[in-house]
Amino acid sequence: MNIALIAHDKKKQDMVNFTTAYQYILKDHDLYATGTTGSRIREATGLDVHLFQSGPLGGDQQIGAMIANDEMDMVIFFRDPLTAQPHEPDISALMRLCDVYHIPLATNIAASEIFIRGLEKGDFQWREIVKLKKEQEKQA
Ligand code: PGA
Repeated sequence: MNIALIAHDKKKQDMVNFTTAYQYILKDHDLYATGTTGSRIREATGLDVHLFQSGPLGGDQQIGAMIANDEMDMVIFFRDPLTAQPHEPDISALMRLCDVYHIPLATNIAASEIFIRGLEKGDFQWREIVKLKKEQEKQA
């Protein structure tokens, strides 16, 4: 699975803790991240993470492009809902594309726990549902 990892500044330590705790699962997947988040994860865990631009410099949009190209399977995005972000339009666009393409998006640590436990169990049936949904949309 191709998994995107993004964390706003006040959530970066949570992301480091999350990826440290679950590196035994994440190591079997292809990981992509916005620049600063990915660097922190790499430093803390040694996981092989593909780094995009930092979020405010276009990283969210690069991840969005992967979603639009059907190259991303899951997005784990620790958002900070209490701090204004200069790149709010990019964040909204990324979340919108997840809904357009039926890509699972976890925006907090609790939802992310559920996602990661699904990965651990090899529970990937949703990918088939997404394929079916896309075919139905093409025919409509
Ligand atoms: P960053 O970007 O990982 O480069 O900080 C995340 C974001 O703010 O969207």
